[in-house]
Amino acid sequence: MKKTSAEKDPSKHKDWIVKRSKIHGKGVFATRDFKKGEVVIEWDLKSQVKKEDIPDLPEPIRKNVYYYKGKYIIPTSPGKYLNHSCDANTFAKNARDIALRDIKKGEEITINFSDEAIVDLKMKCRCGSKKCRNKIKSKPAKA
Ligand SMILES: [Zn+2]
Repeated sequence: MKKTSAEKDPSKHKDWIVKRSKIHGKGVFATRDFKKGEVVIEWDLKSQVKKEDIPDLPEPIRKNVYYYKGKYIIPTSPGKYLNHSCDANTFAKNARDIALRDIKKGEEITINFSDEAIVDLKMKCRCGSKKCRNKIKSKPAKA
């Protein structure tokens, strides 16, 4: 995979920070309050991969690949650090994660993986939400 441009420090941004999460590994946390409907994160669609190359990717990367408008995308920071919650506080729209409700500064930003076209998604969820579905599988990608 080629890097198209010099990456800025991916762990720092005015709206969020990447740090250790109680849900899993690292997570993305709001560094300010967001109002419902606000754009929280804009997706970085630059890292694309050909479908036939996906099986050759290292597993942690392969597991994050998602399908968007005919392209297979490898998420960069912070997208790759977003944790799933069955009661997520954002939803995906037009290559952005939008606040589904008001998000307080310091809250972990979560997405619902089963609403996104992640290519190879099979996981057990321990998000702890009352709505937890325990087993998460991706929807088949629409061609
Ligand atoms: Zn869950």
